[in-house]
Amino acid sequence: MASNVTVKSVLEKISVDHLECSICTNRFRQPKLLDCLHSFCLQCLQELRQSQDPSGTKLICPLCRRETMLKGSGVADLPNNFAFSALVDEVTMQEKLLDGQGSEIKCQACDEENKATSRCMDCDHFLCQECQKAHGRMTLMKSHKIYTLAQLRSGETVYKSKLREEVPKCGKHPDQNLNVYCNSCEQVICTTCSVLDHAKHSLSGLPEAVDKCKRKVTELVVKAHASQTELNTAIQKLSESRKELDTVFAATKTKISKKARQEIAKTRREEKKLSKEIDRIYKERTKAFEAAQAHSRKEVTKTEQKLDEVEHLTDQASCYEILEHQQKLLHNLSELTGKQPQQVPDKLTFMDFEEGERSLGRLVLEEEPKAAAKQSPRPTTFAAMEDLASHFAAIKTL
Ligand SMILES: [Zn+2]
Ligand SMILES: [Zn+2]
Ligand SMILES: [Zn+2]
Ligand SMILES: [Zn+2]
Ligand SMILES: [Zn+2]
Ligand SMILES: [Zn+2]
Repeated sequence: MASNVTVKSVLEKISVDHLECSICTNRFRQPKLLDCLHSFCLQCLQELRQSQDPSGTKLICPLCRRETMLKGSGVADLPNNFAFSALVDEVTMQEKLLDGQGSEIKCQACDEENKATSRCMDCDHFLCQECQKAHGRMTLMKSHKIYTLAQLRSGETVYKSKLREEVPKCGKHPDQNLNVYCNSCEQVICTTCSVLDHAKHSLSGLPEAVDKCKRKVTELVVKAHASQTELNTAIQKLSESRKELDTVFAATKTKISKKARQEIAKTRREEKKLSKEIDRIYKERTKAFEAAQAHSRKEVTKTEQKLDEVEHLTDQASCYEILEHQQKLLHNLSELTGKQPQQVPDKLTFMDFEEGERSLGRLVLEEEPKAAAKQSPRPTTFAAMEDLASHFAAIKTL
């Protein structure tokens, strides 16, 4: 049980993303690397090219839309991603060890299709019981390091894919390993090429070139991290500024509402005040009208009574009596003729309201002639009188 956990934990450490092609969602088969660093199966890329532009010289990455230029025989000439192939190989092997308890693994040293029981780390082969015995018999192989499948399962030793040790051969000299780095051409070459084609170029050994490359990568990784931090800081600042905006937005809205409520209250107070004032004035004026009316009614009644009395007297009295009372009658009647009705000034029928800019407004209780005179033309009656005057003046001079 403990051994299984170890292998399992190895598997869990490997992200599924690194094993799966995002086109076919299967584990990588002959993964090829695009310029954008995304990898896909050779066959998937070939199908992709058919769907994009079969005769074109570029391929668009389905993940990031970046272009990769194709050279030579197209997709097949794209660089292999051996690291991913090796990882798929190793994980697949670990799974076989774990799930089938090794029963599916066959001997790679003979053609007997025997079940493998161990692995020779020097030959990089799984061995059946027979081949393992043969290893022990042969002098050359006696020193080989052999682990049982159980040992591999326990994690005591880890299966390493042969792909990791593969040294690529020179395209021009197939028997030569690529073992020199040309700094001028920025490519890995073989010894023969270094002498024939790159003699005057700056050359380095592979370990030195790899160290240099790793240093450059590290430098750029640091810079990329720094710019990532900068971006994150910017995001943080933006979100803080955004929060600030939200706060002032809310505060400003509150201010507007508060002021509006205050204005409404103030306007209501002004309305109340003006209303009270105009009510008072209206009451005063109606009183004046009522008083004037009452006065006149009283005089009418008095006149009526007096006329009744006069009529009664003149009807009933003899001519002597009438003549005798003549002075009193005429005096009483002449008293009635001088009665003046109580007038109410016209201006009491005028009232208006003028809207204010800062306040609700004010009451206007008398017509304001100044403003009116300025705008309206002279009254016609006045003009007519002036015409008449000039007419008389003309007659005089004649
Ligand atoms: Zn694929
Ligand atoms: Zn990409
Ligand atoms: Zn065998
Ligand atoms: Zn061996
Ligand atoms: Zn070169
Ligand atoms: Zn070469």
